[in-house]
Amino acid sequence: MTATTDVLIIGGGVIGLAIAVELRLRSLSVTVLVRNFNAAASHAAAGMLAPQAEQITPGAMLDLCLLSRSLYPNWIDKIEQISGISTGYWHCGILAPSYTEANKQQENRGDRVWLGKEAIHHQQPGLGAEVVGGWWYPEDAQVDNRALTCALRAAAQALGVDIRDVAVEAIEYEQNKVTGVRTAEGSLHSDRYILATGAWSNQLLPIPVSPKKGQMLSVQVPNVDKLPLQQVLFAPDIYIVPRQDGRIIIGATVEDVGFTPHNTPAGMQALLQNAIGVYPQLQHYPIYEFWWGFRPATPDELPILGASPYQNLTLATGHYRNGILLAPVTANLIADAIASQYHPLLEHFHYSRFVT
Ligand SMILES: Cc1cc2nc3c(=O)[nH]c(=O)nc-3n(C[C@H](O)[C@H](O)[C@H](O)COP(=O)(O)OP(=O)(O)OC[C@H]3O[C@@H](n4cnc5c(N)ncnc54)[C@H](O)[C@@H]3O)c2cc1C
Repeated sequence: MTATTDVLIIGGGVIGLAIAVELRLRSLSVTVLVRNFNAAASHAAAGMLAPQAEQITPGAMLDLCLLSRSLYPNWIDKIEQISGISTGYWHCGILAPSYTEANKQQENRGDRVWLGKEAIHHQQPGLGAEVVGGWWYPEDAQVDNRALTCALRAAAQALGVDIRDVAVEAIEYEQNKVTGVRTAEGSLHSDRYILATGAWSNQLLPIPVSPKKGQMLSVQVPNVDKLPLQQVLFAPDIYIVPRQDGRIIIGATVEDVGFTPHNTPAGMQALLQNAIGVYPQLQHYPIYEFWWGFRPATPDELPILGASPYQNLTLATGHYRNGILLAPVTANLIADAIASQYHPLLEHFHYSRFVT
């Protein structure tokens, strides 16, 4: 089995697929190898596009996240047009209910408004009685990440990307160059390689990316014509993400348990208790689904983007809690890097920050 494409991408989550689409649109031929499409974190996520609600510290990471959020509307139009699949992108804003007034001292701005007790209960009827106020982030948004991942795969296929459901067992090197990748079906070769294997990246290359498990569940609104929530609720230790099809996603635990699978009673109990505290009427809705996933975490919680120790291998991994948000900007910056154009932001996410 050989590949004669210009670029070979290992990993078919949102990051690998978004890069594949972008490279193909720039006329490069692309192969994507994916071990398990459905096991990707991209299917497990909540789909929040939430640089502000996540309170990312000002600096390069916030700049990257805000840039990506601003790219989202046009990027989604493009992906939906090519794939013919709707992604559930929803510029719904995020409300961050609080049980204390501790952080209301920050200034209000156009993209961040503090709501006092009366105002927040007016903006979102049905909040728990203990909510005393909260921030409203009108620019934060959401996308149905499962639909997005399927749309990206369909878009990549429609554009002629060669997607193969096969695991890479090892990367083959000669000095500082990648010469191929080994799979059960033989070796594949290409001019350029991109590593986009999320939480599993460390299995192929010694870089510090490790899994942080997140458990999730969803409930179903009884009457889809009357959605009780029209905005994301992002409270301490819990978020509640209403989809336009009537599902409400509730997440998420953050657990250091390696790749241990399954939902646990403790995880589910914590999610349900916190969620019902913020929005009590959830307790009556039918449970729809439980699942879990593995966030690709790095020691400083920032992604690893751009160059690698090998001259023809580019890294696009470690997106931790924000990989859905960061998909469009990652696709752009990595496609630029493949064309030897390096955006100044990339230097902040270089792998060498972990080399001692
Ligand atoms: C519970 C949870 C909630 C989240 N919520 C949000 C959110 O609200 N907003 C947000 O922006 N982000 C969120 N995230 C984070 C986001 O999901 C990830 O950062 C993002 O999906 C990472 O994408 P990825 O393509 O790098 O990795 P993945 O989606 O994990 O994809 C990696 C792919 O590589 C494949 N692969 C791995 N090893 C190999 C190999 N050897 N050979 C071939 N293929 C291989 C895997 O099978 C998989 O298909 C959440 C994550 C979790 C788990």
